[in-house]
Amino acid sequence: MNQDRIAYVNGEFVLEKDAVISIRDRGFLQGYSVFDTTRTFGHKIFKLSEHLDRFYQSLKYARLSPQITKDQMAEITMELLNKNLELIDSDDDYWVTQRVSRGVSTSEGEVPTVILETVPLPFKSRANYYKNGMPVVVPSVRRTPPEVLSPRAKIQNYANLVQAEFEVTSINPEAWPILLDMNGNMSEGPGSNFFIIKNGKVITPKEQYVLAGISRSTTLELAAELGLETLEADIDLYDVYTADEAFVTSTSFCICPVLSVNGAIIGEGEIPAPITKRLLSAYSGLVGIDIEQQYLSRL
Ligand code: PLP
Repeated sequence: MNQDRIAYVNGEFVLEKDAVISIRDRGFLQGYSVFDTTRTFGHKIFKLSEHLDRFYQSLKYARLSPQITKDQMAEITMELLNKNLELIDSDDDYWVTQRVSRGVSTSEGEVPTVILETVPLPFKSRANYYKNGMPVVVPSVRRTPPEVLSPRAKIQNYANLVQAEFEVTSINPEAWPILLDMNGNMSEGPGSNFFIIKNGKVITPKEQYVLAGISRSTTLELAAELGLETLEADIDLYDVYTADEAFVTSTSFCICPVLSVNGAIIGEGEIPAPITKRLLSAYSGLVGIDIEQQYLSRL
């Protein structure tokens, strides 16, 4: 089935297995590229325009031009998705990604490489997190600070986050890394933002140190609609160990309950804990899919 999937590469729709880019592409040589990823819920794309707004901001930060307008990018995204939707079952969904790299440097300059692609979401391999909660481990590796490269831009180079992943999964294969920033406060993990709930307040790290996740902002909006107080603040490990609840947000997870951080059970260890459950159910209402059930049904 994978072989039938179609990707968009530099102006053409091609079978994934036939897709080709140059070995001299600076995306590959230097990790110099930018991407964004949304997903479908019940085969309908979620917040494409918010994702493309963030994508074009990341491109601007990285001084990259895809030479395609945002509207054209949206059209190509939808065309690609429609071509690939027939390849998955009605209860499966896709990650939908746009990538632009610096391309190949020649004496005439550079032409960026533009790739759009879809991948089925990994519901089965992540389903346990919704049943038992996610064990978070804080690695020794710190998150790239804004003084080095802004984590607010969705830069393709994940070496920092992957290094963290190797470290924590070598200790516990199920563990999910959340890195500290250079000041010792919680920041984010591979593809995911972090939240705690303390005394009814929904708290997440400040945007300066993390990617402004679309699921993060969706969660903050839903929390406000539910009448919960929200706060962007420094969260250190004391705050985490004494929190009532914790969860991560991401495009694929939406909201995923955290069981423990560094082995310390958060709150009463209930999965999902009461406020996380209310937020998850509000998120499910917004997207028209029972998010937990979509994962749990794969167990
Ligand atoms: N943090 C990082 C480093 C990410 O790469 C991502 C998404 O891939 C997120 C957070 C979550 O962002 P979103 O909710 O838009 O998926």
